[in-house]
Amino acid sequence: MAVVTTYKLMKDASQNGYAIPAFNIDNLESAMAVAQVMKETGLPVIVQTIPRTLNYGGIATYPALMTALMADSDVDYALHLDHGNGTELAKKCIDCGFSSVMFDGSTLPFEENIKKTKEVVDLAAPKGISVEGELGTIGGKEEGDTELEANYTKVSEAVEFTEKTNVSTLAIGVGTAHGVYKGTPKINIDRIKEIHSSIETPLVLHGASGLSDETLKACIKAGISKINFATELRQAYTAGIKAGFEKYPDAFDPKIYMPEAVESIKKVLLDKIKVCYNEVKL
Ligand SMILES: [Zn+2]
Repeated sequence: MAVVTTYKLMKDASQNGYAIPAFNIDNLESAMAVAQVMKETGLPVIVQTIPRTLNYGGIATYPALMTALMADSDVDYALHLDHGNGTELAKKCIDCGFSSVMFDGSTLPFEENIKKTKEVVDLAAPKGISVEGELGTIGGKEEGDTELEANYTKVSEAVEFTEKTNVSTLAIGVGTAHGVYKGTPKINIDRIKEIHSSIETPLVLHGASGLSDETLKACIKAGISKINFATELRQAYTAGIKAGFEKYPDAFDPKIYMPEAVESIKKVLLDKIKVCYNEVKL
């Protein structure tokens, strides 16, 4: 196995009409689920964590977990910091073995976003580490109505942003939101196409939990080459534990009921892998 950059995986995906699924892990069981599906399918994925997860389990823990779990496999994968907040955390993650870091400056004024993103690129690029930037509004954690024109990533800004920051990959706002959707989200597929045809930088879709397979496929066809999944995995994990408790009501050893959680996450992971890889490598 080798830890490779998100850019390397996404470049191939963007040239060959598929996307790399990016899975957020929280603990041993979610890491086990991701490692097992990579070994079973032989397909690379992006393993990622948000800063809150790193605060919870320790920055060095997650790369160490993946290294140990993937030691007997030759499948490549990327280790990515999702929604990073600046150079300090980026540096710590890189030192612990992450191959890719995000800087999310999407709530900052445009020029400030460029400046801060560039700082992370200047730190990471000489070490061969990918940087994901973000432009536009992705709902949920961020403010605003994601379906408003003002919140979509503007094509001209995407061009200027990628030229000035030299980010490896770019997350865009096209109507998605983090967390659980209340209604049916409307995704601006045309905007993905317009941005994809204007810049070379591979594009990332956040907030994909709850989008239909059809919508995800349309996003990939329009030019998305990384799709983030977190909420649905956490829901599957929690449902799996509850099912484990029901199945083994007298069990007190986590090794009896936790495999139910691993299996529950794996089902979702396999579904997402099928959609993202679009039968290209299956
Ligand atoms: Zn996100």
